[in-house]
Amino acid sequence: MIALLSQPAFASVVVFTFGAMIGSFLNVCIVRLPKKESLVLPASHCPDCKTPIPFYYNIPLLSYLFLRAHCRFCGVLISPHYFIVELLMAVLAVGLFQRFGLGLVFFVDFLFVGALIVITFIDLDVRIVPDVISLPGIVVWLLFSVVNRQILADHLSALPSPMSSLLGIVIGGGSLLLVAWVYQLLTGREGMGGGDIKLLAMIGAFLGWPSVPVTLFSASLTGSLVGILLMVRKGVDGQYALPFAPFLCLGALFALFFGDWLVAFYLPLG
Ligand SMILES: [Zn+2]
Repeated sequence: MIALLSQPAFASVVVFTFGAMIGSFLNVCIVRLPKKESLVLPASHCPDCKTPIPFYYNIPLLSYLFLRAHCRFCGVLISPHYFIVELLMAVLAVGLFQRFGLGLVFFVDFLFVGALIVITFIDLDVRIVPDVISLPGIVVWLLFSVVNRQILADHLSALPSPMSSLLGIVIGGGSLLLVAWVYQLLTGREGMGGGDIKLLAMIGAFLGWPSVPVTLFSASLTGSLVGILLMVRKGVDGQYALPFAPFLCLGALFALFFGDWLVAFYLPLG
C-alpha cells in the first residue's frame, strides 16, 4: 500500500476517494447544522420519505449516478447539491495533494477547504453564514499558528505566523465591518451581513493578513461578474442581494492555491 501510494496516479485516486467520502459527511453538515440537528444520529435518510439509506445506496458520487438522482424508495428527485459537494471536495483534495503533497499541511488545508464548502452551501441554501463554524474557526486557526510556531518550529511553512494570523483577523473582519458601516451610512440599508465579516476574519486567521486583500479582491470581482450576469440574463434588479459568502470562500480558495505568487508580486519584502 505504501509503495503504491508513492505512485502519483494511484495516490491521486486514493485522495479523490477520500475527498468524496468526506464530501458525503459535509453534505450531512450542510443539511443538519442550520437545523441544529446531530451530525451522527439518525443515520442518513431520504430527505423526503425519511427511509434510512442502506450503505450500498449511500456510496459517494456513484449512488447518485446509479439511482439517477432519485430516492430508491419514494422516487423523489435528490438535489444535485449532494453530488456537487462530493465532487468538489474530491477534486479539491486532489488539487491540495498536487500542490502541497501528502503531509500534515494537506490535512490542515483539507479541514479549511471542508469548512469553506459547508459555509458556501449553507449560505446558498438558507442564506446564513453559520457562526458555529466561523467563530471557532477564528480561534482554532489563530491557536494553530501559535502551535506551528512554538511547538512544530514552523514545520508547516505554508501557515502564517501568529502575528500574521492575528492581523488577518483584524484586517479581514475590520475591512468588511468598515464596508458594512459605510454602506449603511450611504444607503440606510443593511448590505453586509455580520456572517460575512466573521467569515473573512476566519479566512484571515488561516491564511494570514497578506491573503486578505487577495481574497477580498477576487471575491468582489467574481461577485460583481455573477451579479451583472444575473441582472442581464434573468432581469434580477439591483436590489437583489447576492449571497457574498460563497464568493469569499472562492476567493479564499484562490488565495490558498495561488496567493503565494500574487503576494510575492505586491509584497516584495514579504
Ligand atoms: Zn425517499
